[in-house]
Amino acid sequence: MTKKVVVLGANFGGLTAALSLKKELKSDVEVTVVSDRDYFLFNPSLIWLPFGKRDEGDVTFKVGPTFDKGGVHFINSAAKEIKPDLKQVELVNGASVDYDYLVIATGTRNKPELVEGLFENTSTITTLGDAENAGREWKKFLDNPGDIVIAATQGASCFGAAYEFLFNTSYQLKKAGLKKQVKLSYVTSEPFLGHFGIGGLNHGEQLLGMFLKKEKIDAYTNVALDHVDEGRMVTTEGINHDFKWSMTIPPFVGQDFLRKTEGLVNAGAFVDVRPTYQSLKWDDIYAVGLAAAVTAPWSTPTPVGVPKTGFPTEQMAHVAAKNIAAQIRGEEPTHSKEFGDIPAVCIMDAGNNGVLILADKMLPPRKHGVMIPGPQNHLAKLAFEKYFIWKMKGGHVNLP
Ligand SMILES: Cc1cc2nc3c(=O)[nH]c(=O)nc-3n(C[C@H](O)[C@H](O)[C@H](O)COP(=O)(O)OP(=O)(O)OC[C@H]3O[C@@H](n4cnc5c(N)ncnc54)[C@H](O)[C@@H]3O)c2cc1C
Repeated sequence: MTKKVVVLGANFGGLTAALSLKKELKSDVEVTVVSDRDYFLFNPSLIWLPFGKRDEGDVTFKVGPTFDKGGVHFINSAAKEIKPDLKQVELVNGASVDYDYLVIATGTRNKPELVEGLFENTSTITTLGDAENAGREWKKFLDNPGDIVIAATQGASCFGAAYEFLFNTSYQLKKAGLKKQVKLSYVTSEPFLGHFGIGGLNHGEQLLGMFLKKEKIDAYTNVALDHVDEGRMVTTEGINHDFKWSMTIPPFVGQDFLRKTEGLVNAGAFVDVRPTYQSLKWDDIYAVGLAAAVTAPWSTPTPVGVPKTGFPTEQMAHVAAKNIAAQIRGEEPTHSKEFGDIPAVCIMDAGNNGVLILADKMLPPRKHGVMIPGPQNHLAKLAFEKYFIWKMKGGHVNLP
């Protein structure tokens, strides 16, 4: 009988896993994707949305036609509970789907509740709705400007986006003629500038320090927030950072419905996985991308998370797809790639400038790791956005 694979989530991880498995096994597998959203979102462009440089139509596409073309069945509903003993997933729409193999690629949700008042008093850009809201707040700010604080809270992991937004804000302030009158500050849980949640890179701290100095941005590292009031961020050490407008990157947690399945997730609702991306407990359940648990090989005075960016997410999805294909063929799932060993490839945008980050491994110890600054990186990021959306929309998931 044809084996059934169900993939939860239709973004970087889910779309890649579903289509690459279907391409590999063709009619020998029936692939169904379940997602609460019927569109793909290119999250990296959310840094530009609040400044009106992008809108929803620029950074999303409907996934239905992509899956149709790839021979993958798509159900637009949220998963409600995974029942491993029945090999079944219950959906919010009342239906249930049976699987032989399951891939969890449901990403994360924001956890602003960690810091009292964070959600109520600052903007964020980590979801489409949040970024649109940040755009409305930015417009109000332009009419009534004052100081700005960009922050990444304790436990945050998406530091790249925090830096990108910081430098884009500085650039937009210049364009609006407000740079001289607005004090721009960066408040971060990182132990040092340029840690990024990946332990830093050679000369990264100096480079980021130079960039900040040039842009006249004050930076505060190793900061944990106690609470946020209207216009005021208060650290656990009782230091105040006042602002007229603030964008913060909160910590992420895995999706709550995963907690219902005993033994599947850790305390943060991230799925505990092996280097094959199979769950620790079940051979037929995989997790990739943001949904998978990753442990950092260090501890920092203020907790920071490990960023799981697009490239490692795709790599995890390919490893999972190859292993499921092997299991369906009656072979052992031998493909493996530790998260920390996946190369780091990232472009950090800075408005009209940028930094290319390349390292042989996501996590140290590393042999190579470089940060190359220059305006060409801004252009490369623009080109990458167009290429990546084209690639995913066309279902060309085996392209680099
Ligand atoms: C502001 C920002 C900027 C970023 N910039 C970069 C960058 O420059 N470079 C880079 O490489 N990475 C960047 N990233 C990270 C990148 O977006 C992630 O690596 C990527 O989105 C991870 O993909 P994923 O499929 O694991 O999760 P997601 O992209 O979060 O997708 C999760 C999917 O699961 C679905 N889902 C959620 N709950 C359920 C449910 N209950 N049932 C069914 N489906 C569900 C969602 O609808 C979605 O389809 C950025 C992220 C953010 C937020």
